[in-house]
Amino acid sequence: MKAAVVRAFGEPLVIEERPDPEPGPGQVRVRVEASGLCHTDIHAAHGDWPVRPKPPFVPGHEGVGLVEALGEGVTHLAVGQRVAVPWLGKACGRCEHCLSGWETLCEQQINTGYGCDGGYAEKMLAWADFAQPVPDGISALEAAPLTCAGVTTYKALKVAGVRPAQLVAISGVGGLGHLAVQYAKIAGATVAAIDVTDEKLRLAAELGADIVIDARKENVGEVLKRHGGAHAAIALAVNDEAFEAVSSGLRRGGKLVMVALPAHGTVRVPIFDTVLNGISVIGSIVGTRQDLAEVFELHAAGRTEVVYEARPLASVNDCVDEVLRGEVKARIVFDLGWGR
Ligand code: NAD
Ligand code: ZN
Ligand code: ZN
Repeated sequence: MKAAVVRAFGEPLVIEERPDPEPGPGQVRVRVEASGLCHTDIHAAHGDWPVRPKPPFVPGHEGVGLVEALGEGVTHLAVGQRVAVPWLGKACGRCEHCLSGWETLCEQQINTGYGCDGGYAEKMLAWADFAQPVPDGISALEAAPLTCAGVTTYKALKVAGVRPAQLVAISGVGGLGHLAVQYAKIAGATVAAIDVTDEKLRLAAELGADIVIDARKENVGEVLKRHGGAHAAIALAVNDEAFEAVSSGLRRGGKLVMVALPAHGTVRVPIFDTVLNGISVIGSIVGTRQDLAEVFELHAAGRTEVVYEARPLASVNDCVDEVLRGEVKARIVFDLGWGR
């Protein structure tokens, strides 16, 4: 099978021929049909974060495909069933986080495409208990972006406690942001979308954003304040200044939800304003299996639109450059080409 491999941080990925992986106990082998390119994969390939993966590794945590082989003890998945393999590859199931509905905080977790090989490959392994069945009617290409971009932004809006009649600011309308705009609309909010390219701002308006703010030309905080200030700001742009810009537009009692993970990212939080204005700063990491099930349900019900461009895996390095230049409409999804 073919896989795109990070051999060294900051170097182009290498397409390699590898033997099909054998599922161990509790695992399944998935024939990957589609695999999304999340900006996190670029951070992984660059070694951007304090905790680094160990090259060589296969990135990718939006892999979707058909179960091809069952490891020992797997009874609830069937060969031929379509599953998605998210960032949360495995959690312990026993710790306080796992037991309280916060498996995403489990200290024993293994992350797909980071702590184990991921979805930039024709075949991959998944732990059966964390491989999410994809409902009928959702194509692999559409399911892929939902598997991280979808679940992450759906969860970010949940932790922000967004309610109807609130103003929500979505900073960055890329892979994550284009879905965040839609979940905020579904929650009943008025949505202000912020980006730095004309295409992304147009896309945000098409997807239902009520206010679009061009951060190149406008003062984000002032525009939000003119609308009364945001109840929640979801920070998805890979840029420290964008965090500060959007949080300056919060109203009293507002919540800044940090999601993007710029390399060495640091935000200056003014203590006086944070205290006097009762501002909350919240970190939000992906979502649980239940969150992903809800994301798939919404999509199967026709309530969300996934915007993607399908590409061959062999173009992975060009695709990374396009994402870094901000030229992708929303999400690139590798089509592993089994249908052809
Ligand atoms: P992306 O590159 O598709 O989207 C980023 C968007 O931000 C682009 O549309 C870009 O034009 C826009 N942008 C750039 N500068 C801006 C600025 N100054 N103001 C406003 N917008 C600006 O990336 P993505 O795949 O959506 O991922 C975004 C970030 O979220 C990455 O850092 C990724 O690692 C992180 N992430 C976090 C989680 C989590 O669980 N916390 C999950 C997935 C991804
Ligand atoms: Zn991701
Ligand atoms: Zn745990």
